[in-house]
Amino acid sequence: MIRSRPTPRAADPRASIACRECGASTNGRKPYCVAHVLHSPYARRVYEDYERALLDRARGRVNVHGLIAQDILVALQQAPCTVGRLRSDIGLSGDEVRAYLAALERCGMIEIERVRGSQSMLVWLAA
Ligand SMILES: [Zn+2]
Repeated sequence: MIRSRPTPRAADPRASIACRECGASTNGRKPYCVAHVLHSPYARRVYEDYERALLDRARGRVNVHGLIAQDILVALQQAPCTVGRLRSDIGLSGDEVRAYLAALERCGMIEIERVRGSQSMLVWLAA
């Protein structure tokens, strides 16, 4: 009887591997399962940045180097934007977005100008 040999395949990128911490299988060849994802230095850093952003926000503190400011700058890299649009895209209150924009403008990172004949303010990255 002739047996067909299995065809060698490229590793499936979705194949699971074992979590380095507990051995549970993980998705997408990630080194840690969901319960242990913070053992990954990258995930840890992202989580800490996020936590700091939440604290800044809760304290009404503006951190021009934090995640919220980064979100604003990334949005403005695509195109100039109105204040209202930024507010809804990033999910900030009017006061919050104004505080961030004022701080970013003071640092010279963005420019803000009233749209002629309108209440809107247009924001763009400083050259
Ligand atoms: Zn685990």
